[in-house]
Amino acid sequence: GPAPESSEAALQWIAARKGKFDHFINGDWVKPSSKKWFESLNPATGKSLAKIATGNARDIDAAVSAARAAQKGWRDLGGPARARYLYALARAIQRNARLLAVLETLDNGKPVRETRDIDIPLVARHFYHHAGWAHLQDQEFGDFEPMGVIGQIIPWNFPLLMLAWKIAPAIAAGNTVILKPAEYTSLTALCFAEICKDVGLPEGVVNIVTGDGKTGEALVKHPDIHKIAFTGSTEVGRLIRQATAGSGKHLTLELGGKSPFIVFDDADLDSAVEGVVDAIWFNQGQVCCAGSRLLLQEGIAEKMVAKLQKRMETLRIGDPLDKSIDMGAIVDPVQLSTIKSLVKKGAVEGGTVWQPKCDMPEGGCFYPPTLISDVTPASTVAQEEIFGPVIVSMTFRTPDEAVAIANNTRYGLAASVWSENINLALDIAPKLDCGVVWINSTNQFDAACGFGGNRESGYGREGGHEGMMEVLKPKFLSRLPSYKET
Ligand code: NAD
Repeated sequence: GPAPESSEAALQWIAARKGKFDHFINGDWVKPSSKKWFESLNPATGKSLAKIATGNARDIDAAVSAARAAQKGWRDLGGPARARYLYALARAIQRNARLLAVLETLDNGKPVRETRDIDIPLVARHFYHHAGWAHLQDQEFGDFEPMGVIGQIIPWNFPLLMLAWKIAPAIAAGNTVILKPAEYTSLTALCFAEICKDVGLPEGVVNIVTGDGKTGEALVKHPDIHKIAFTGSTEVGRLIRQATAGSGKHLTLELGGKSPFIVFDDADLDSAVEGVVDAIWFNQGQVCCAGSRLLLQEGIAEKMVAKLQKRMETLRIGDPLDKSIDMGAIVDPVQLSTIKSLVKKGAVEGGTVWQPKCDMPEGGCFYPPTLISDVTPASTVAQEEIFGPVIVSMTFRTPDEAVAIANNTRYGLAASVWSENINLALDIAPKLDCGVVWINSTNQFDAACGFGGNRESGYGREGGHEGMMEVLKPKFLSRLPSYKET
C-alpha cells in the first residue's frame, strides 16, 4: 500500500511552539491566568502531543471584552469587506491543508484519508460559501443585524470542521466570537488562530479559549454574550439550556442522534452495504448523524446481514496515518470504555454481538467494527447513542412499521432510506421525524444545506441560508418624519 503520511511537519509545528499553547485573545497569545496547562494525547499511541492552556472565568472575561470591543468595527466594515477576510481564510486553509489534516489526525485519531479528503476540504468550502453570504448581506439580510458577541462550544469528533461551521457564518454576518474547542482536540483550532493572525483578521474578531467543561461553563455564564452556539452531547446541551434560561441569550443546540438506516426489500443491497460502511464506520462511528440503527425489511434481513459481515471482514484498523486503513483510533480511553460497556449491555439484553476477525493494533484506543443484531427497539443499545463503530440491527415488515421504529427514540437528527422505488422513498421521507433524510445515500454534507435536528437532537440549523438566520436578528426600522419636516 501507499507509504504512511509523514507526521514530521506537524510534529515540527508543535515543537516550534515548544509543545505548549496559550489562549488566543485579541489577536495575541495570552497565558492562562490559572497558570495551568493540560496534556493533549495522541489516541493512536497514547503519547502526549502538546500542553494546552486551561481557561477559567478570567480568561473568558478577557476574551469577551476583546470580542465586544471589536464587534462594532467589524460590523461597520460591511459585508463585502468582511467577505475578503473570509476568502483569505479559506485560501490560507487550503495552503495549510496538509499540516491541518495531519495535526487533526494526530490529535483525534481519525484516518488521514478522511481529514485530507473530507474534513479539511469541507472547512475551506465553508469559508468560501460564507464569504458569499457576507457579500450578499445587504441585499439578502437588509432588515437584519448581527447578534453581537457569540460564545461557541464544540465537540472533538470533527474539530476543525465544527469550528468552521460555527465561526464562518458568525463572522460573515458581523458578529465576533469566543470559541472553546473540546479538550481532547484543541490543536487545529490553535493553528486556525495563527491563520487568523497571518491573514490580518482584525484583533478580537476571533478569540479561542481552551479548556474543559468548566471553561465552557464560564463562557455560557458570561453576561456580555448575546448568543451561545453549542454542539455536543444532549446531556450538556440540557445543562446549557438551564444555565441560559431567563438570561436573554439566544441559544442553538446541535446534539446527539441515533439515526435509522432503513433498507427495504427492493434495495440495491451491495450499495446499501457500502452505505452502512460510510454510515457507521466513517470516523469510527463518532458522528452525530451516524446511521447507527439498521432497520431491515424481513425479506432481505438475513441476506443483508450476511453481506454486511462479509464486508466487515475486509475493514482494516490501524495507524490513522496509514492511508490504506479504514478505521483509526477512538478519541480517548474514556470514550473507548463507554463503547465497551454499551456493547456488553447489548449482549446482556439479548442482542447477538458480532465482530470480524481483524488485526488490532497494539496499544492506543482501538475498537473493532461491531454489529449487534436481533435487538429489540426498546433495548438500551437501540435507544442510547453509542458514538462508536457499533451498529445495531432489527427487522420490520411494512413501511408503516419502519416509520414507527425509526421515530421511536428521543433523538431526531438524520435518516437514510434505501429502496429502488422512489415513490416509496419519497413517501417515507416526510414521515421521519428528523432534520435531514438521505435517499440511497448517507452522510452528505454541504455548506449550502442547513443541518440540524429535532427533539433531543437539538434545534437551530448550521449551513446555508437557514444557518445565517441563526446568527442574525431582525431589525424593524421605521422612520417617522421629524417635526421640522412636518
Ligand atoms: P460533550 O457534550 O461532552 O462536550 C462538548 C463540548 O462541551 C466540549 O467542548 C466540552 O468541553 C464542553 N462542555 C462539557 N461540559 C460543559 C458544560 N457543563 N458547560 C459548557 N460546556 C461544556 O460532547 P462530546 O463528547 O465532546 O461530543 C460528542 C457529542 O456531540 C455526541 O453526543 C454527538 O452526537 C454530539 N455531536 C452533535 C453534532 C450535531 O451537529 N448535532 C455534531 C457533532 C457531535
